[in-house]
Amino acid sequence: MDLTFSERETAFRDELRAWFTANDPGPEPSDDERAHYAWRRDFQRRLYAGGWAAPHWPVEYGGRGATLTESAIFFEELGRARAPLPANVLGLLLGGPTLMVWGTEEQKDRFLGPILSAEEIWCQGFSEPEAGSDLAALKTRAVRDGDGWVVTGQKVWTSGAQHARWCMLVARTDADAAKHKGLTYFLMDMEQPEVQVRPLRQITGGSEFNELFIEGARIPDEHVVGGVGNGWKVALTTLMNERAGLAFFLQVRMRGLLDDLIAEAAARGLLDDDVVADRLGALHVKAEILRLTAYRGLTAIEKYGQPGPEGSLTKWMWSEANQELAQLAVELLGPEALVAGSRWGYELLRARGNSIEGGTTEILKNIVAERVLGLPRVR
Ligand SMILES: Cc1cc2nc3c(=O)[nH]c(=O)nc-3n(C[C@H](O)[C@H](O)[C@H](O)COP(=O)(O)OP(=O)(O)OC[C@H]3O[C@@H](n4cnc5c(N)ncnc54)[C@H](O)[C@@H]3O)c2cc1C
Repeated sequence: MDLTFSERETAFRDELRAWFTANDPGPEPSDDERAHYAWRRDFQRRLYAGGWAAPHWPVEYGGRGATLTESAIFFEELGRARAPLPANVLGLLLGGPTLMVWGTEEQKDRFLGPILSAEEIWCQGFSEPEAGSDLAALKTRAVRDGDGWVVTGQKVWTSGAQHARWCMLVARTDADAAKHKGLTYFLMDMEQPEVQVRPLRQITGGSEFNELFIEGARIPDEHVVGGVGNGWKVALTTLMNERAGLAFFLQVRMRGLLDDLIAEAAARGLLDDDVVADRLGALHVKAEILRLTAYRGLTAIEKYGQPGPEGSLTKWMWSEANQELAQLAVELLGPEALVAGSRWGYELLRARGNSIEGGTTEILKNIVAERVLGLPRVR
């Protein structure tokens, strides 16, 4: 594909860059989780006020109708400005686009606006204690009751559930149907006593994600998305948007980290060491490959109208490179990088989850093998 920006794309980038210069997100609060979340929410509100909360959404839903390349530019500039991912990232990248494909007009009217403005935060209730990679094995069940549903079950690793008003929930509505067929996709109101959110402590010391205990929560019929029994297809739309949407932000964030590491290494005279220079050079090459592969993923979206399996490749490459980068930082900077609360210590610990979240590396390799390379399916 042609990577030279058109006049329109250059103008889009310049306007955005000027906006970020005028709207500095300020320093990232480091050790207080609530302050950190408030910083992200506040920044989303500013993006919203400036009309930048979701440039990739169509104009009729409050976006800018940005082309794929423009939305890639948006994420690149967001990363370059060292701005945070908007607080409602799951609503903006996953929930909103899923509703645009599968939602009714009433659902779009009701939900899209508060997603954009960060008024209502969304979380993703897919994984369960015995259903992660094999999502269709999930056991949470929804039973019809009058003109609604009663839901019982447990979800786990639910990121941001402690802040969320709505949960994209996949539950089993037909225990007798084939595994992928008996599922339904719901929007569950988190503000009911039948939904309990318990934070899980991560290796970093933080609690980004939670367990959800659902004991007879109620969901009205109008909050079924895409029809009863169609949950698998709706969930796939959510998952494909997850991998494609984040690719640009992640590669730019990694680029920023790498630049910081190179600067720290240079300040300590470490670049004169050929081995260090070689390892940093190798990471630079990986960062460039990641950027170009992310752009190549756009071609697939242009061709098929939605993200293709190629998005799995960038997620896999990013997680490996990001882990390698954090490891190298700690090797170069020594024990000071391992002090509790240090930036690189945090990056090292947080990066461990990169090869699990949003699809494990093994699962992504299966997808690339079968659906990109056309190799025989695993049994
Ligand atoms: C930081 C973070 C945030 C998350 N946020 C959310 C969230 O907001 N919402 C949500 O629903 N989930 C979330 N998750 C959960 C995540 O999607 C799951 O952890 C992931 O899908 C893997 O599922 P699992 O943990 O059950 O592992 P399992 O599926 O049990 O896998 C265990 C191991 O077996 C391997 N494996 C499994 N099946 C195969 C196979 N067919 N071939 C080869 N190897 C295989 C896996 O790769 C893995 O190494 C989050 C996870 C993390 C780390």
